Amino acid sequence: ELPPVNGDFYDLGEKLNADDRALQLKVRAFMEKEIKPIVNEYWLKAEFPFEIIAKFRELNICGVTYDGYGCPNRSYLMEGIIAMEMARIDASVATFFDVQSGLAMGSVYQLGSAAQKDEWLPGMQQLNIIGAFGLTEPEVGSATAGGLTTTAKRNGDTWILNGQKKWIGNATFADVIVIWAKDVDDNQVKGFLLRKGTPGFSVEKIHDKMALRIVQNGLITLTDCHIAESDRLQHANSFKDTARVLRMTRAGVAWEAVGCARGAYENALAYTLTRKQFGKPIAAFQLIQGHLVEMLSNLTAMQTMVYRLSELQDEGALKDEHASLAKVFCTLRTRDVVSRAREVMGGNGILLEYNVARFVADAEALYSYEGTKEINSLIVGRAITGFSAFV
Ligand code: FAD
Repeated sequence: ELPPVNGDFYDLGEKLNADDRALQLKVRAFMEKEIKPIVNEYWLKAEFPFEIIAKFRELNICGVTYDGYGCPNRSYLMEGIIAMEMARIDASVATFFDVQSGLAMGSVYQLGSAAQKDEWLPGMQQLNIIGAFGLTEPEVGSATAGGLTTTAKRNGDTWILNGQKKWIGNATFADVIVIWAKDVDDNQVKGFLLRKGTPGFSVEKIHDKMALRIVQNGLITLTDCHIAESDRLQHANSFKDTARVLRMTRAGVAWEAVGCARGAYENALAYTLTRKQFGKPIAAFQLIQGHLVEMLSNLTAMQTMVYRLSELQDEGALKDEHASLAKVFCTLRTRDVVSRAREVMGGNGILLEYNVARFVADAEALYSYEGTKEINSLIVGRAITGFSAFV
């Protein structure tokens, strides 16, 4: 009889309360049944499986930490567990969800007026309204804090936006996109709720990505887009407010990295238990066991880290540098785990059907989005030394 394959070596899942554990297992079963069978096909086609939106609606996990607007009002730990369970099967689906539930809804929830929350959040929670988050630009990636070139000019009760946004997830089909632009009068970054179909808005799909191929990333062009003052996020007054949203979602990316590593590890371990060479399972060889234990060590260190990260978040004590440290560590370690997973599977490790090659590719995007290793390291470096070394 084969030993059980379980990437939760320290039984952290057992520490959850009964409700949280039940939801974790429900999301896991959903991902196994509904997502796993279709995901390689869509990844290869680089298309989004729209049929999953209705299925996600039934799970009722969107905006899981928010209070009101039909949201479940559960813990940040639960949100992290959900991100991990999604990415354990597919990091693209986890990213779609993070953009909707974290970046887009989170901007409205944290920075919108009461009227804006009433208008958008119930529909977004139900996934009837799909959101996106437009911060990065073709020429401004890491330097968004001070360097945005997309402009907003106020004219009475209207704002006129001009500029481009690159890499924007869900942008090709989103109903509303949070656009971050610099107010030319006070030079501060402000957030705008851009409605689908606004004249002057256009979006092109970014083709030929080698990672997260299911996520539809867009290149947005804004040419004299008119946006009403009532669609400006009323509590977004500077980039500091944008950063509040990113702090929350970076914690989520750390959890996604854990899920990606966990999926790759579990699939690789299962493979080594059954694949035979020289008359025995390859798992019986010392050099293979060395890789497996290295993967599990990294995975276990990451998991214990993100559990504590979410506890900090639930205690209201999460700082930018806490989220950045976990984002850097987990996405870096995940690259190591997925590449060892591929290695122990030999040639089959590069075939999509063996469910590790996709993880290797996707880990590259997790590593770079929501702040690269360097940028998140500089956020931690600034916190522990007092010196800002960005420029
Ligand atoms: P650059 O800023 O050009 O950086 C290139 C290299 O230089 C990196 O290694 C970087 O770390 C390094 N570097 C830059 N500055 C410094 C410095 N001061 N010190 C040392 N090294 C430095 N953005 C959105 O707004 N919304 C989205 O939905 C979204 N989704 C994405 C999805 C995917 C799949 C990807 C790949 C990106 C997405 N992004 C999104 C953009 C993402 O956040 C940026 O790619 C990321 O912030 C890095 O910016 P960049 O790619 O322009 O790299």
